[in-house]
Amino acid sequence: MGSTVLVIEDNEQNLYLATYMLEKAGHEVVQARDGLEGISLAARIGPDLILLDIQLPKMDGYAVAGELKGNPGTAGIPIVAVTSYAMPGDRERALAAGCAGYIEKPIDPETFVGEVEHFLPGDRGARGGGH
Ligand code: MN
Repeated sequence: MGSTVLVIEDNEQNLYLATYMLEKAGHEVVQARDGLEGISLAARIGPDLILLDIQLPKMDGYAVAGELKGNPGTAGIPIVAVTSYAMPGDRERALAAGCAGYIEKPIDPETFVGEVEHFLPGDRGARGGGH
């Protein structure tokens, strides 16, 4: 069985690509286009994992991660930051905000799903599907 992944991403192209690849690998994807929507959806649906863009309108990803980790209802959901920032210190900042890990943009279709599944709790990643 696949997992439910909440993707918080304001860039339509990246959102489409992430959704397409995760669904092809057997996961269910719920989309949010800004942090507030993402926080609300996370609390409502309780996804297995959250993919969080750092550059978001209104609230940046660090603030979103802080909110999610500060809310007992969502604190246990692993968050993986997705960002094009290549500045030294960003990885540390994402981890300090409570993210379990970090995936760099541009998304690499060859490795993306494997990287995401690495952060899924337990052994719930879909295996062997797609390529
Ligand atoms: Mn963005």
